[in-house]
Amino acid sequence: ADYKSDVEPTWCSGCGDFGVVAALTRAYSELGLKPENIVSVSGIGCSSRLPLFVKNYSVHSLHGRAIPVAVGIKLARPDLTVIVETGDGDLFSIGAGHNPHAARRNIDITVICMDNQVYGLTKNQVSPTSREGLYGSLTPYGSIDRPVNPIATMLSYGATFVAQTYAGNLKHMTEVIKQAIQHKGFSFVNVISPCPTFNKVDTFQYYKGKVKDINEQGHDPSDYRKALELAFHDLDHYHDPNAPVPIGVFYKAELETYEDRMQSVKRRYKQVEDVQELIDMCKPKAL
Ligand code: SF4
Ligand code: MG
Repeated sequence: ADYKSDVEPTWCSGCGDFGVVAALTRAYSELGLKPENIVSVSGIGCSSRLPLFVKNYSVHSLHGRAIPVAVGIKLARPDLTVIVETGDGDLFSIGAGHNPHAARRNIDITVICMDNQVYGLTKNQVSPTSREGLYGSLTPYGSIDRPVNPIATMLSYGATFVAQTYAGNLKHMTEVIKQAIQHKGFSFVNVISPCPTFNKVDTFQYYKGKVKDINEQGHDPSDYRKALELAFHDLDHYHDPNAPVPIGVFYKAELETYEDRMQSVKRRYKQVEDVQELIDMCKPKAL
């Protein structure tokens, strides 16, 4: 099936987000997903337009609020595939209060962050992932903030699938997105997705040749400590011109999901006879 919608993308030519649409629709096709069983949820930003261009149910929600909307959908309809499409600003700035909790609860949704290290829709302001020194319309002397490390952040929040991929490598992106969708639990994919219009530093030209597949180099994603160690080197290239940019699956673990735990609570709830019993259950007690 063709998973592209009839709406033509409105992105600038050369935008990395085109590649993400291509990879996502390929992943849908290769996984044999039905459009009516997929819900895409986005916030606000250039990347958050993505759900319009793909054949699935979609919610273009509020700035930074895609995750709570997606969580609500998943808890009400655990049978659906729920995917958040977001950007570095939407997810790590205004939406930063939501990812830690969806991740630590291991809610079975997939979060795809199109990371262009800039605010594109509002025309060139530095974002949480912008490198130091990046010029923007509000930073004529260059950014003086140190950037967020998306991989290390999501690993420490307890996401059970954490990966990075690159918009210039369709095959890698498709493979990683497929794995993320198939993962049972909270999956996070950071896509390095250049914005040729406003970010004149972190370009396709820049990343070409720098990205290195950590799994091809032997990284075992079940090793959490090693994943963290690799993640700490994710931004080395900002200071060291010879440092590689790691892509691939950093971490993957099969743990009980929030939905599984909800089911077990629901089963126990049915045994409660009256309100007083419930009140007594909420009193402080030893485990
Ligand atoms: Fe893509 Fe940048 Fe254009 Fe937005 S401004 S559509 S991120 S190239
Ligand atoms: Mg951005």
